[in-house]
Parts: sequence; C-alpha cells; structure tokens
Amino acid sequence: MDYDSLLDKAYKELPEQSGSGERFEIPILDAFVEGNKTIIKNFFSVLQKIRRKPEHLVKFFTAEFAVPATVEGERLVLHRKLRPELINKKFTDYVKNYVICTQCGKPDTHIEDSGHRSKVLICEACGARAAVK
Ligand SMILES: [Zn+2]
Repeated sequence: MDYDSLLDKAYKELPEQSGSGERFEIPILDAFVEGNKTIIKNFFSVLQKIRRKPEHLVKFFTAEFAVPATVEGERLVLHRKLRPELINKKFTDYVKNYVICTQCGKPDTHIEDSGHRSKVLICEACGARAAVK
C-alpha cells in the first residue's frame, strides 16, 4: 500500500465530524444577581436553541426554586438571589428530562399531550417516545 492510499484509509476511519452529527451541548444560561433578584439575560435565545416554549421552563423554575418569576423582554427575572451555577444545574436537569431523547441523545424533540394529563417526549430524529412528568 502506498502512502496516499494509507492516508485515504486513515481518513475514512476517522469518526464522522459533520456539523449535524455533533453532540448536542446544553446551552449555558447567563445569569446574574441584582439586588434580591436573579436575572437570566439570555433566556429567550437559549429557549430557541432547545425549542421550548417560555411558559414550560418558567413553570419549571418557579416550581424548582419556589420563587415567582417574571418575563421582562428577553430576560427572565427570578425574585430571589440564586447562584448562577445552581440555575444552570437545574436547567441541565430540565434539558435532560424534557429536551434530549433518551434513545439517541439528540435534542430534536417535542412534547405532546397524551391525554389524562400525561405528556410524551417525541424524538423527531429516531421516533422514540418517552413519558415525561
Ligand atoms: Zn431519538
């Protein structure tokens, strides 16, 4: 085997690195404390990345932190001092539970009502369905 075909073989054996095949990275919420509030600056841009409605995540945060929250423009304001790390830790839980497919690990999912107040997470990439709270 000559050098060129060796190189060719090595190249073919590399794992695929196409843009769409990249592993999904959970976005980081950019939060800071102001007075006795915590403001998430990039709330809406992160929502777009995970393709979820604001109401769902707002409800999740108000329940998890037991604080009122208000949407102000592009930002979400949580009415208590909270550490940004803690917010991102909860947000990671949210993404794992409500966004990422448990079968293929892709974030191309949506949530549907399946009746009787239960919901299912449906994966558009592999078709898996999983019950969510
Ligand atoms: Zn899937």
